[in-house]
Amino acid sequence: MKQAFITGITGQDGAYLTRFLLDRGYTVHGAVRDSTRADTSKLAALGVEARVTLHRLNLLDQASIFQTLREIAPDEIYNLAAQSSVALSFEQPIPTLQFNVLSTTYLLEAIRLLGLSTRFYQASSSEMYGRVPHLPVTEETTLHPVSPYAISKAAAHWAAINYREAYGLYSCCGVLFNHESVLRPKHFVTKKIVRAAVEIAEGARDVLKLGNLDVWRDWGWAPLYVECMWLMLQQETADDFIIATGEAHALREFVALAFEAVGLDAEKYVEIDPALYRPADIEKIYGDPSKARRVLDWQYSVSFPELVTRLVEAEREVYRAEQAGTTPRSGWAHPG
Ligand code: NAP
Repeated sequence: MKQAFITGITGQDGAYLTRFLLDRGYTVHGAVRDSTRADTSKLAALGVEARVTLHRLNLLDQASIFQTLREIAPDEIYNLAAQSSVALSFEQPIPTLQFNVLSTTYLLEAIRLLGLSTRFYQASSSEMYGRVPHLPVTEETTLHPVSPYAISKAAAHWAAINYREAYGLYSCCGVLFNHESVLRPKHFVTKKIVRAAVEIAEGARDVLKLGNLDVWRDWGWAPLYVECMWLMLQQETADDFIIATGEAHALREFVALAFEAVGLDAEKYVEIDPALYRPADIEKIYGDPSKARRVLDWQYSVSFPELVTRLVEAEREVYRAEQAGTTPRSGWAHPG
């Protein structure tokens, strides 16, 4: 039975990846900051909470990392833990850089010094490309990060590549474009929009304040993206891949579709608040997933309108269950 170790197991991708790996017969271990207070609600939503072993681990403490990796000797590590919010990274640049860069380097260094044959997956981000010279982004596009989050992800990305090139570690970077699900944390703009559309439709609020609606992103369906992480670690040689849908849509379009899905016209409820603009932002970005299609045989099938509809329907179910003091039906966080 293969052993997988996931950092960031309590996040959106950690939960979907856990379910994916358990379905394939893996034993799944996860790192949490504090095992007594860890928020395991996303794992619970997918019905996998009781099937994982959680390890309390400070990912900035090299000794603890050594001890945990020596104990588990994982076949595969999926490094998903990160301060993952671009907006928060402008408020807290130093903790963002510190955690995202150092935790990745400590893990790589531990694999190297312990002499493990562990395969390593690094959660890189499309944000690293920032001010893009051409579209769509490919694996060859130059990095030009425009936020502290993106800078931290770029540094961690290069650390993962450097350990592959310098020491021969099996280390892969998955450069994922935005991917969504009902498990997205509340502070992400897509979740904010979907939740507001549902609450306005249910009569619980009147208005949604947003920043710049004229940003274009490549949004995908998270449960299908975690499969790529696994596929990358099953190849003969380690490599890096863009994971994207290949389409860009304006945030304005996302908002319109989300309100349409609850029978409302977004124009009547959305207010623009300049205070919500970011100090620097990417105008338009989308990726070319053809290498992942060709090498990993990865197929993506969820259209943009379907994605938004799925998010709204799931959020409405969560909202109504919360109001009724019940839990949503089993499997509410979507099948793969
Ligand atoms: P998420 O839902 O925000 O989850 C982040 C995870 O990292 C959580 O488990 C969180 O643990 C953990 N974490 C954060 N700070 C930590 C710290 N100081 N110490 C230990 N653990 C910490 O993120 P996600 O959407 O699943 O994304 C997974 C990874 O992919 C992240 O690295 C993200 O940057 C990257 N990524 C995501 C996207 C996307 O669109 N989702 C796109 C490209 C790349 P707690 O529960 O304790 O907070």
